[in-house]
Amino acid sequence: MNMLTISPIRAFSDNYIWLITRGNQGFVVDPGEPGPVVTALQAGGIELTGILVTHHHFDHTGAVDALKAETGCEVWGPPDSPAGPYDHTVREGDTASVLGVDFSVLNVPGHTLDHIAYYSATERALFCGDTLFVGGCGRVFEGTPPQMRGSLEKLRRLPPDTLIFCAHEYTLANLRFARLVEPNNSALSEFLSACEAKRANDQPTVPSSISDELSCNPFLRWESPEIVKTLEASGRLTDDSPDGVFTAVREWKNTA
Ligand SMILES: [Zn+2]
Repeated sequence: MNMLTISPIRAFSDNYIWLITRGNQGFVVDPGEPGPVVTALQAGGIELTGILVTHHHFDHTGAVDALKAETGCEVWGPPDSPAGPYDHTVREGDTASVLGVDFSVLNVPGHTLDHIAYYSATERALFCGDTLFVGGCGRVFEGTPPQMRGSLEKLRRLPPDTLIFCAHEYTLANLRFARLVEPNNSALSEFLSACEAKRANDQPTVPSSISDELSCNPFLRWESPEIVKTLEASGRLTDDSPDGVFTAVREWKNTA
């Protein structure tokens, strides 16, 4: 039985700010702009008590100061963050208490060096910012591709029914790219159809689950013989190690 209710607040063109509530108290994850958050809090009669930050990018932190000033809430975030310092600095091995529920912090560098994720085993929920997306992963801006793959490998080991609350609705573009990389993956085709139906009704495709991602996401499937074959056939693979396969898929997606 979950203690927390998690719902999306849409922001910018394709961001999700996750609203976590228990009774009339709430947390938000990665608030990039204040307006939609304030509207959602007012609509639900919710008092904001905390903010979780996954990484420093402006579309994840732009509303932190305004919301803190308005509500007096406390902020959790990573150390050495260009958008910090935060009230509570957390890193791998630390815990953030969210409305009475413990979330473990995982270091997931790659997209940025300060990137962390928040995972609750009891809620089966992962807030992973721009590290893992439905059918994709974040661009590697500050780290290296092997570092990013290591972060994704850590997330891949979470229980299969863990829900993936990522920060963007990039799913259809990701899954259409995934089909280029692995055209005969039937689970992927079925998942794409289900996600297309949701988008046609203006519903979020997020959250997915670790199990969805294990079967469909090419950035978690570096062992797939078909992916290796596709990369080789198109002259993109110079190294068939896990890092080599991941790097080749990431580079292909950067220019696709
Ligand atoms: Zn980002």
